[in-house]
Amino acid sequence: MTNYQFKIDEILDKIRSMGAKVVGLQFPEGLKVHATEIAREIENETGAMVLISGDPCYGACDIADVEMEGLVDFLVHFGHTPLPIDHKVPTFFVEAHYQLESMEILKESLIHLEGTEKIGLVTTTQHLHLLEDAARFLEENGKQVLMKEGKGTLKGQVLGCNFSSVHDLPVDTFLYLGSGNFHPLGIKLSTKKPVIIVDPYLNQVRDIDEFADRILRIRFARITRASEAEKFGILVSSKGGQSRWELAKVLKKMIYKEGKEAYLILLDEINPPSLMPFMDLDAFIVTACPRIAIDDSKMYEKPLLTPQELEIVLGRRDWEDYEMDEIKY
Ligand code: SF4
Repeated sequence: MTNYQFKIDEILDKIRSMGAKVVGLQFPEGLKVHATEIAREIENETGAMVLISGDPCYGACDIADVEMEGLVDFLVHFGHTPLPIDHKVPTFFVEAHYQLESMEILKESLIHLEGTEKIGLVTTTQHLHLLEDAARFLEENGKQVLMKEGKGTLKGQVLGCNFSSVHDLPVDTFLYLGSGNFHPLGIKLSTKKPVIIVDPYLNQVRDIDEFADRILRIRFARITRASEAEKFGILVSSKGGQSRWELAKVLKKMIYKEGKEAYLILLDEINPPSLMPFMDLDAFIVTACPRIAIDDSKMYEKPLLTPQELEIVLGRRDWEDYEMDEIKY
């Protein structure tokens, strides 16, 4: 039994109408436990054979179309909405909405929103269907709710590292509905506005300030350490949606102009073992997923920086102008 809605009927209809004989399934880590149950239903109902992607999947930027090309007729990707990138296999995106038992927790947010009038309401793909009710609740309690579409995102949606739906939204405070700290942190750093998290999983309302301060202190320490670096590795992703090759080349030239060395390194998975052969380098710049430098920083022996952090290291940007890295499509 699951709290997720997987739109199985819609998937079955698609498979039948396409006459697909082999269907690929791909899930982010949190949803992968449902893979065999969904595969069984598809095979029983349509007679198509299912191939499940067992590799880690980090986001809509990491679709298994390249790996599955020639093996499947149709790929179903769960848990994300599409980014504006081409796929090598026809791909159907299933948002997998999470059904919450109750939204009582929203009432508590009113205490945190006292004295504020204009609220920017934001969430991730799994909770988009809750935005309307949440907006109504806030409006009934005297708030003005603002939401907008971003580049490649729906109204009120933050998707991975795409925060374009909150840029330039004229609000006093953002209210983020969902779990985790990465998205609220991104909203805070890209807007400099207060962010209140309404987390229905932990049944908790909190602000992002303490977490954001802690992350910024860590980032400052990494930047300070990297300031002494003479040799940099620039990590480039071979994942279609995370590849920023042009940016990587610009960064390499930028580093050389400062009289330092820089080496471009292409990787599919970025993790501490994959960097082990490059320990002669002093610091790494991640042009792949922006979360790697921020979320996984403690796992690495050498400083991992975002492109904007490199600019600070090289004196081309002030610390006061610190910005969250975003992959812009
Ligand atoms: S690159 Fe962006 S969308 Fe992809 S996994 Fe990282 S944060 Fe998410």
